[in-house]
Amino acid sequence: MSEKTLNPFEIAQLQVKTACDKLGTEPAVYEILKNPARVLEVSIPVKMDDGSVKSFVGYRSQHNDAVGPYKGGIRFHQDVTRDEVKALSTWMTFKCGVVGIPYGGGKGGITVNPAELSKGELERLSRGFARAIAPIIGERKDIPAPDVNTNGQIMTWFVDEYERTTGRFEPGVFTGKPVEFYGSLARTEATGYGVAIMARDAAKKIGLPLEGAKVVIQGFGNVGSFAAHYITEMGAKIVAVGDHTACIVNDNGFDVKALMAYVKEHKAVKGFPGATKELDRSEVMGIECDILMPCALENQITSNNVNSIKAKIVSEGANGPTTPEADKVLSEKGIVVIPDILANAGGVTVSYFEWVQNLMRYSWSFDEVQEKQEKLMVKAFEEIWNLKEEHKVDMRTAAYMMSIKRIAVAMKLRGWY
Ligand code: NAD
Repeated sequence: MSEKTLNPFEIAQLQVKTACDKLGTEPAVYEILKNPARVLEVSIPVKMDDGSVKSFVGYRSQHNDAVGPYKGGIRFHQDVTRDEVKALSTWMTFKCGVVGIPYGGGKGGITVNPAELSKGELERLSRGFARAIAPIIGERKDIPAPDVNTNGQIMTWFVDEYERTTGRFEPGVFTGKPVEFYGSLARTEATGYGVAIMARDAAKKIGLPLEGAKVVIQGFGNVGSFAAHYITEMGAKIVAVGDHTACIVNDNGFDVKALMAYVKEHKAVKGFPGATKELDRSEVMGIECDILMPCALENQITSNNVNSIKAKIVSEGANGPTTPEADKVLSEKGIVVIPDILANAGGVTVSYFEWVQNLMRYSWSFDEVQEKQEKLMVKAFEEIWNLKEEHKVDMRTAAYMMSIKRIAVAMKLRGWY
């Protein structure tokens, strides 16, 4: 069965509408939340190495700032569109609302394949984009961060160009910076750590002992590898890992440190000597386990493979790994799905801590950051679990409901409706 491809912005609007209806909010709430407050489209002319000038199109979408300044990443990718950026900014509003951090949603991007640019061209493009969006961003207005194909170096160019343009010293205007330049300790580990904590708490709720629990992970990049590391520290074992090259299996559990070192060197899990079996990458979802962590790409759990899933818990590290059709099936099967906007919110949570540290011109220790992250995410998990029980809905709907509740209260108090 093939699944209808909805435009991502239409999906986002549908999710907001469903949660508003479930909560029974006044119609004004959906009316305000269905569109971003502002979308800026910019053209960035870049002097190329061969002397020619090429213009790139970029966007910054600011969805809602009722609870705080806009927050969300900037993506450099050839498939970036205005609607994709609008959808991603909408999801960011709800992700921030889920963990209760004082931000609204934002997202940005440039339609470009950065692999085709030289380092100098990439720097000039990044600086051009920072100048173009400078009028609408700021430490207390809109705080962008890295996303697909952007990193700490690009954030540092953004900060530098923004400061030159505005004449103000404001390192907190972007997060995801290198630790040596106003970044935060424990940011690299944050998303995977959160995915593991959320799986741990769900296991507790359904009476699944973590000691010896079998975990399968799709994706062994930043998110998947740290999720593996932390869930293993909690007593579970990783019995299979899939990536873009293969699905490797070891029923006794992998040595995660050794696998991390192997992937660092080979850029893939294929060929890892610690595996007892190597399967096609498409087989990862059907492997027998207690906990499944999709940490690779969107649309990986679909109506084609959902019936093969045997896990009791799915902790979504990736953004949008489950299609709406497959989501329904998981819910009917009684599988607990910890939705992406909660499970992978560790990244934005520690970005928030980076910003707080920047505003205070202070640095917290690694343990202090992780402790704060855990406290915040565990509290969000409990609140969403209780809401799910109260309204007899799945965790995804409960997470949206929790977020919308918070945003609706702020908008009401502000007199927006
Ligand atoms: P990454 O690039 O470090 O790793 C991606 C992993 O996915 C790699 O192991 C790659 O081999 C695997 N992969 C790619 N194509 C695949 C395919 N067709 N089949 C199976 N595996 C495939 O990326 P990341 O930072 O770990 O992000 C992973 C996901 O988590 C993305 O959806 C991202 O949006 C989301 N996310 C990341 C963060 C963060 O802080 N990094 C925060 C929130 C959400």
